[in-house]
Amino acid sequence: MTVNLLDLDAAGLTAFFAECGEKPFRARQVLRWLHRFGQLDFDAMTDIARSLREKLRATAQVLPPVVIADRLSDDGTRKFLFDVGGGNAVEAVFIPEAERGTLCISTQAGCALDCSFCSTGKQGFNRNLTVAEIVGQLWQARHSLGAYAAGETAGGERVISNVVLMGMGEPLANLDNTVTALRLMLDDNAYGLSRRRVTVSTSGLVPAMDRLRNECPVALAVSLHAPNDRLRDELVPINRKYPLHELMSACLRYLEKAPRDFVTFEYVMLAGVNDSDAQAHELLALTRDVPCKFNLIPFNPFPGSPYHRSSAPRIRQFAETLIDAGVVTTTRKTRGDDIDAACGQLAGQVLDRTQRTGRRVFPLRLDLQRVSG
Ligand code: SAH
Ligand code: SF4
Repeated sequence: MTVNLLDLDAAGLTAFFAECGEKPFRARQVLRWLHRFGQLDFDAMTDIARSLREKLRATAQVLPPVVIADRLSDDGTRKFLFDVGGGNAVEAVFIPEAERGTLCISTQAGCALDCSFCSTGKQGFNRNLTVAEIVGQLWQARHSLGAYAAGETAGGERVISNVVLMGMGEPLANLDNTVTALRLMLDDNAYGLSRRRVTVSTSGLVPAMDRLRNECPVALAVSLHAPNDRLRDELVPINRKYPLHELMSACLRYLEKAPRDFVTFEYVMLAGVNDSDAQAHELLALTRDVPCKFNLIPFNPFPGSPYHRSSAPRIRQFAETLIDAGVVTTTRKTRGDDIDAACGQLAGQVLDRTQRTGRRVFPLRLDLQRVSG
């Protein structure tokens, strides 16, 4: 079978070249061409002997995921839709800010965890993305944003300075591919991002958090969303398997190896569900022993969702309760509203696989029309 070289990190490429009877340094050369310089054509890899280039053409290919839509929001947010076959698409969103440019990428087509407020969850699970599909979102975004054309390298200013795994899917339910993709993001011969600038967001898969800690500790965000097990069982069903006391201990273990000295707790603000002052105090008690910051996410509605976004004054009051207790708390700005690029709105799958709603959701056609229009 022909191997897609974008599926391989430094160790994988080294093994691949060893099998071809080639020296290990070929891995470094090819990593640079593919990821650092964005060059996918073997013939343009000038420091590689012609005989090896021919061998590569025969045994390998380089296939990033195909961009099927690319939309720019009025606020500068840019959303890329990728075809991942079988009628499925996943999304990456680029969010430019004064100090940084953040790319939010997906790790699965759909998600099996079925959080009650998440449109990806409501679409059901299709499959894990490959390494090439995960890291290929970064490759394609760099390409489209002109980073390769500008000759951007690890040392200087970056268009994409931060990557967050907060798009579609649960990264820790696709741990092997996620870890390999993370290694490529951190590799100086590839994307050269620092561990602090790459964030994995998880709904709290405790054993996989421990593995990530040991295999590739990057910055960690945990989707908390509720201050007690009763409510979290309802909002984030995986909580029934890994309840809050286990999750808090896993956060503490993670912090022993984390590149930042805090965990970010994400908390979606659902009107009348999890946004009272009493719940803010309960949250403070729950997280008292864990060095953390809070990121409040105003709920982004989607068709058929049973929730409403908390009002702006309610969110402010909730944030103030946390801040008054000395916990750094930010409220996420809702961006890309006009292109449905906000958290939890990431559409892209043609079919509602679970038939939970018994109808088609987010037809792809619509996206494409809006792009061309
Ligand atoms: N599966 C991972 C990462 C992807 S979701 C996780 O759950 O952490 C990224 C963030 O968006 C999570 O905090 C998730 O809870 C949040 N989110 C999901 N649906 C949302 C919605 N409709 N509005 C606001 N945030 C949402
Ligand atoms: Fe999956 Fe995260 Fe959505 Fe929950 S919030 S269904 S874990 S993508």
